[in-house]
Amino acid sequence: MVIIMNTDATEQNIRDVIDAIVSVGLEAKVMEGAHQKIVGVIGDKGRMASVPVEAMEGVEKSVAISKSYKLASREFHPQSSIVRVGDVEIGGEVPVVMAGPCAVESREQLFEAADIVKDGGAQFLRGGAYKPRTSPYSFQGLEEKGLEYLAEARERTGLKVVTEVTVVEAIERVCQYADMLQIGARNMQNFGLLKEVGKCGKPVLLKRGLAATIDEWLNAAEYIMHSGNPNVVLCERGIRTYETYTRNTLDMSAVAAIKHLSHLPVIVDPSHGTGKWRMVKPMAFASIAAGADGLMMEVHPNPSKALSDGPQSLTPEHYKGIMEGIGKLASFMKSEPSLRLFDEE
Ligand code: PEP
Ligand code: MN
Repeated sequence: MVIIMNTDATEQNIRDVIDAIVSVGLEAKVMEGAHQKIVGVIGDKGRMASVPVEAMEGVEKSVAISKSYKLASREFHPQSSIVRVGDVEIGGEVPVVMAGPCAVESREQLFEAADIVKDGGAQFLRGGAYKPRTSPYSFQGLEEKGLEYLAEARERTGLKVVTEVTVVEAIERVCQYADMLQIGARNMQNFGLLKEVGKCGKPVLLKRGLAATIDEWLNAAEYIMHSGNPNVVLCERGIRTYETYTRNTLDMSAVAAIKHLSHLPVIVDPSHGTGKWRMVKPMAFASIAAGADGLMMEVHPNPSKALSDGPQSLTPEHYKGIMEGIGKLASFMKSEPSLRLFDEE
């Protein structure tokens, strides 16, 4: 961290800043800029959390220069991580696909969806039993009944189950049924929830917050890892921007950024990322081309009857077409040396 002083900061202001840094056991180094003095902080910058440095007289701003997350960083762990969910490897040789309805609506709907998902070649069945809806009047999910149907669908198809947990009280229950827990965009900075899923022993799919920076997202992963769970997979699902044509703005550059900054696998959700089923195919292909380790896509046996997110849900036919393309694209990229994205490959 460096602390940039105002142009009119006095010698006393600088001495006060240095004293504050030294008082928490860190070292301070003053550098002369062209017009301003800069105080560098050396040591664990976490200790600076208790120093309200930006409120001190003569300080213009403080700027973090080393990363606040460690366990999630590639600096800390240069080799890309593979997260194993049973016999499925996320971050390994083949892209992993998690597909299924937005919400578990009924036993019949889920079974039909699960058969379609399995047929198309995905490894995971997704489906929300606890739905974090914007309106309290919208369908909220079947809760434990929904979890039971998901577990039954796993027995039926052999697919792994990923489903969202929205509150700490439900973690134990969701863990009884699911192979992987999903933390949704709205809960990405629910630090109490992150700490608890870090202790539950199941792999976690961490979606990017609606308005989260990449740094905040990786810090959220750090919370889970710091609680003892190294099995975190990141999921880019679009962020809020001024654009209204799409539901969110799918930040494809986040895939390349995560690959550089972190060793964790990253997948992309083009369904929530665009809000439009027509855009799912091009964005799914773009995700694989950008180096994503997999995809999450919403598929419904009859999107026009879906209780949530029908407009972005794929029909069985569209889903199968996309799966075929993804398989071909991924193997072509692997077979063609000029298309390899990462030096370590
Ligand atoms: C979901 O995947 O079911 C979901 C609610 O997505 P997000 O948290 O990304 O909005
Ligand atoms: Mn949805």
